[in-house]
Amino acid sequence: MKIGLYPGSFDPITYGHIDIVKRALKIFDELIVLVSIHPNKDAFFTREERIDMIEETLKDCLDRIKIETSDTLTVQHARKLGASHIIRGLRALTDFEYEFQMTHANRVLDTEIDSIFLMTDNKYSFLSSTTVKEIARYRGDLSTFVPPYVRKRIHEKLKRNEKP
Ligand code: ADP
Repeated sequence: MKIGLYPGSFDPITYGHIDIVKRALKIFDELIVLVSIHPNKDAFFTREERIDMIEETLKDCLDRIKIETSDTLTVQHARKLGASHIIRGLRALTDFEYEFQMTHANRVLDTEIDSIFLMTDNKYSFLSSTTVKEIARYRGDLSTFVPPYVRKRIHEKLKRNEKP
């Protein structure tokens, strides 16, 4: 069975991430969505909230998807979970530099685990979770960026954060 590992912050999951998941499922039998937790990075949503949104958003294909969290190296997780490849999404050239460095570092750490890069549909090629949070803060329309459930959770969170 071919298992792929798709790591990211997913803070929150967007239509860009979903597009990459759907494409990866055409290549792999099973996909592990790995929610990376960075202790030094300020997250908008908690680990549990991010997992909940991923589960709800990908509920149609959960039979082939596992959701895991990690606060360690991605390659270590890939090996532990039996994944042969790390999947990453590529947007613009700006992603390339970072991904180039990460892939080479990962290769030094584990020579057998390769990375695969997928591109989203053009309409999501500028989209990031950071953009979504930025637009949300100014009450912009998020309907083309995230599914309705995620939109609802963003609005709830903003309201809670605004309470004194
Ligand atoms: P971001 O906060 O920038 O959305 P993540 O860490 O959640 O970043 O992203 C996880 C992976 O998904 C990365 O490989 C990232 O490049 C990819 N990704 C995120 N959004 C998109 C998109 N709109 N198109 C293609 N790949 C994407």
